[in-house]
Amino acid sequence: SLANIGVTGLAVMGSNLARNLARHGHTVAVHNRSVARTRALVEQHGSEGVFVPSESTAEFVASLERPRRIIVMVKAGDPTDAVIDELVPLLEEGDIVVDGGNAHFADTRRRESWLREHGLHFVGTGISGGEVGALEGPSIMPGGSRESYAALGPILESIAAKVDGEACCAWMGPDGAGHFVKMVHNGIEYADMQFIAEAYDLLSAAGLSAAEAADVFREWNTGELDSFLIEITAEVLDQVDTATARPLVDVIVDAAEQKGTGRWTVQTALELGVPVSTIAESVFARSGSGDTAVRDAARGVLVGPNRTVSAGDRQGLVDDVRDALWSSKVVAYAQGLEQIRKASEEYGWDVDIATVARIWRGGCIIRARLLAQISDEYAAERLATLLVAPSIAEGLAGRQGAWRRVVAQGVTSGVPVPGFSSALAYYDTVRAERLPAALVQGLRDNFGAHTYGRTDRAGAFHTLWSGDRTEVSTS
Ligand code: NDP
Repeated sequence: SLANIGVTGLAVMGSNLARNLARHGHTVAVHNRSVARTRALVEQHGSEGVFVPSESTAEFVASLERPRRIIVMVKAGDPTDAVIDELVPLLEEGDIVVDGGNAHFADTRRRESWLREHGLHFVGTGISGGEVGALEGPSIMPGGSRESYAALGPILESIAAKVDGEACCAWMGPDGAGHFVKMVHNGIEYADMQFIAEAYDLLSAAGLSAAEAADVFREWNTGELDSFLIEITAEVLDQVDTATARPLVDVIVDAAEQKGTGRWTVQTALELGVPVSTIAESVFARSGSGDTAVRDAARGVLVGPNRTVSAGDRQGLVDDVRDALWSSKVVAYAQGLEQIRKASEEYGWDVDIATVARIWRGGCIIRARLLAQISDEYAAERLATLLVAPSIAEGLAGRQGAWRRVVAQGVTSGVPVPGFSSALAYYDTVRAERLPAALVQGLRDNFGAHTYGRTDRAGAFHTLWSGDRTEVSTS
């Protein structure tokens, strides 16, 4: 019989998604460029459900019921285009091509428009949760036409993570919306991890061993910080290296790598004019950690305090760091969600932010208890920023003292806290009565006659700086 859905690209993500689909009772057509992967999948996991393997693309396409639903799960970039080019001539009007790879949303917009010209649906879909998520229930962020979601949504929802009985999968909006949301998800993930790393660094500077820090994170995971990343932080900190008997974290090279979605988030934010400072700091922190030339040159030359965080009141410090972590995390979500809102406006996607937060509650890497609260707040009212949502503003009010002590502690002890401090700077910026941006405008007018607005009158004004310094109206 014909398959309900197909997966092409059977590396770790694709084969786990195919298995997840089969385990949920779907008949799954499977295909991979090199047939060895297809054979291995069917040999090792064929008993988990009904798979229809194909060795050629034509055979694969022919094995699917119409409208065809094909998930492409190959290396992002040129390989995705290569697979699409091969599929398109074999498909018929109304068929749906799903790209589950980590594509840039601009590529997704281009591909969607091209397939639309051919009468086909192209569904750029964010999938988060890593390989375990793909198998056991990821968070799924599909874009594309609303019509395609009617045919595809129920299948994707059946394999997605569930929280309180709700699937962590929902239509995000047209063309690139799904991949955009996934990109920002990853940007927030960078910030979350940077905050966790700074928290660990401060605890460590206060004399906590890796195992003691692991206990702290485990304890935090039972409260408001409850999240997947905090949970695995305890796991990583607890790990002892068998070769050296030291904590594994002390043996790992301290240069963080990246695959590019964090960078895309920041590049896109620059273009949209949305300050995602915490995400930018996190991307820069990774790049900087790997800049051995600069670090080698500066180590031992540049003078400063020697990472001595007084652990006099250890529980007090631990509690303060927890509050700084929660507050900074809230800022990263506020910034990322604001970026999605801006892009949605720019591209006419009409993304529902409450829904984004709702499908991030489970399955994905940034899943966290906080996301339920964020989703509820966005559902309750249209927020100019998450930070002013009643329960969030109240949470920040109660924690900002601790947050400031933590940033001050980092500054005075020489422990770098770029994430915590940029989050706090954002908080103080948005709540400021007046900003020194007024002076920046004055300077711009002075050297470049760029004009400025006045607080007391409408219009654009210029001071004749090199003349008699009187003001002229330029509007
Ligand atoms: P890889 O990104 O390592 O890609 C390998 C797959 O791509 C193989 O099936 C390979 O086929 C296929 N491929 C590569 N080039 C071509 C080509 N020119 N034509 C046809 N097929 C090609 O696999 P992953 O499973 O790690 O990831 C798949 C996608 O999912 C990627 O876009 C990734 O960014 C995304 N993703 C990955 C996550 C993860 O945790 N790994 C999480 C979320 C998304 P062959 O076997 O013939 O070489």
